[in-house]
Amino acid sequence: MNPDTERSITLSQIRKQFGATEVLSGIDLSIPQGSVLALLGPSGCGKTTLLRLIAGFDPLDQGQIAFGDRIMASPQVFVPPERRGIGYVPQEGTLFPHLNVEGNIRFGLPRQAGRHRRVEEVLALTGLSGLGQRYPHELSGGQQQRVALARALAPGPSLVLLDEPFNALDLDLRRSMCEEVARVLRQTGTTTILVTHDPGEAFAVSDQLAVMQAGRIMQCARPEDVYWQPANAAVARLTGSAILLPGRCHADDTTSCALGRIARHSGSPCTEGPASILVRPEQVQWTQQGPGVAARVDYRSFRGDHTLIGVNLGDLCLDLRVPSLSAPQLGAEGHLQVLGACMAYPEP
Ligand code: ATP
Repeated sequence: MNPDTERSITLSQIRKQFGATEVLSGIDLSIPQGSVLALLGPSGCGKTTLLRLIAGFDPLDQGQIAFGDRIMASPQVFVPPERRGIGYVPQEGTLFPHLNVEGNIRFGLPRQAGRHRRVEEVLALTGLSGLGQRYPHELSGGQQQRVALARALAPGPSLVLLDEPFNALDLDLRRSMCEEVARVLRQTGTTTILVTHDPGEAFAVSDQLAVMQAGRIMQCARPEDVYWQPANAAVARLTGSAILLPGRCHADDTTSCALGRIARHSGSPCTEGPASILVRPEQVQWTQQGPGVAARVDYRSFRGDHTLIGVNLGDLCLDLRVPSLSAPQLGAEGHLQVLGACMAYPEP
């Protein structure tokens, strides 16, 4: 096997049914070695099912999973989980309560010289040095999940699967833990798949972001490309706030809608005629003098670092977040201007 590709993962046309229900409907993904792929999607779309197939906990119905050149699963081939070289970190609650931190980490390591050193290494890597003798009930939720990660990393897996590993933590801690974990995994050259339903987390940690819905990958690309050029309106909504307006595409790579004439991304699925126009709320700028379309502030709610304003454009009202320091007053008359380009989709 070529060492440069042995940790890459290729999924080809993966299908999985439970009874009569097809849960995965032809998944294709390619994950270069040492990179982080975030799998983002709503509850029940099939994320965990896909991870379980990759880990080898369940067989697939159709398609193929390969690590580098080696086929791990297909309808004819099934390499058992313990021979796939995978570390799996599930949602929560997987530590053995009767074993201390070291015992938990040692659990998956073969009995051989150097075991103690390896435990110390992964404790340091995951920021747990000095906590080896503690029991799970003596640790915070974040520390417990670090131990779960340390245990998964201890055998030196070529692939780590993280299934919403920090769900139980509050949002700030979750995001910082995730970024830290992604850094550790990159440092060790481990190919990683992170399942999440938090777009912020997915953007912050991934090299590639795959957006999944109803058993299909709707888009897989660099996080910034997914955010600014979502493949369709569903991906736009799943990855952040979205303003979708009826409009029209013109031949000169622009569109028109209630927000005026806007440049259109070249990758837009619609290039001519009636369309659904997408802009992100932060692209819409409020100015007192113009240029832009006339609008009036009909609603204003102070939220600390930003203020939510409801702006009225005649028969349309948009919610915008503006910096509190420069937020217009209730009833203010001004203009809205769109920065950057929009996406245009065929009308549903
Ligand atoms: P969540 O974000 O809520 O964890 P998910 O995207 O990970 O959701 P899965 O757990 O993969 O979703 O489930 C996908 C669908 O498959 C769901 O409708 C679920 O009920 C169904 N499903 C999962 N496992 C089984 C099973 N063993 N038998 C029958 N149906 C199953």
